[in-house]
Amino acid sequence: MSAVDLFWKSFFREHDLLIKWLLLFAGAGVLYLWIKGKKQAKLNTDEAAKIKAEHSKVAEPEVIVQCQHCSVHLPKSEAIKQEDRFYCSSDHLDCLDAQGWLGSSAWRSSPNQDIRPEGIAPDLVVIHHISLPPSVFVDRRSTQFIVDFFQNKLDSSLHPYFEEIADQKVSSHFLISRSGEVFQFVSTQNKAWHAGVSSFLGREKCNDFSIGIELEGDSDHPFEDIQYSALAKLSSQLSAVYPNLQFAGHSDIAPGRKIDPGIQFSWQKFQAKTGISAKKLPFGLDPR
Ligand SMILES: [Zn+2]
Ligand SMILES: [Zn+2]
Repeated sequence: MSAVDLFWKSFFREHDLLIKWLLLFAGAGVLYLWIKGKKQAKLNTDEAAKIKAEHSKVAEPEVIVQCQHCSVHLPKSEAIKQEDRFYCSSDHLDCLDAQGWLGSSAWRSSPNQDIRPEGIAPDLVVIHHISLPPSVFVDRRSTQFIVDFFQNKLDSSLHPYFEEIADQKVSSHFLISRSGEVFQFVSTQNKAWHAGVSSFLGREKCNDFSIGIELEGDSDHPFEDIQYSALAKLSSQLSAVYPNLQFAGHSDIAPGRKIDPGIQFSWQKFQAKTGISAKKLPFGLDPR
């Protein structure tokens, strides 16, 4: 063993206690610094989150939308949403806009339409029934078949009857489903193709001056109460814009050729719900 080794050996032996104390202090110091560092890191994170929250408050202003009816701008959170459209009030949602579309209805534009003769506003509502396949209206799918039919999108491979009607190009302005949902296919300002060869009190081509409303149903089943309610509401919404409207069934304007809305449609119930005067129902209230 060298002299240097001997020196350190005796040094450690003599200062054993001192060295232990030094190590203890060093350990405590490291522990203190570690805890302090952790605390600072947490403070930094909290501060960053606070700044971020305040920042995002400024960076995300309220989205502004426009009322489909009157074009007024308003915050999205205050607007009424219907499909992808917005309305400033239930009044504007619940009436025809300047383009002849009803805000509260589901818009499904049909290619089967054209313009009315110059200067002609509708003064007749023609009530129909339809179901696809005939007499099937069990669920939303059957309603969708009618929507598809009026949009020339009906898949004719799904039912033999669909093949029969595949080439027909027809539409109506409105459809009221079994659950009372209202669909619109054509602006009331345009002509929908619902009446065909027809005559109303001596006036031919009823499509020119009428609005067509289809009720989902047939001649064998009563219509649903909610359909009468929806029809009554729609009739008053239309009358608000076209005050001279009269009401007739498809069979009234195309007798011998058409039977809808049929024996199950209660004109009495319709009249009671709407309060329409008898002179606006020229074919009376009897079932037919
Ligand atoms: Zn509005
Ligand atoms: Zn009809």
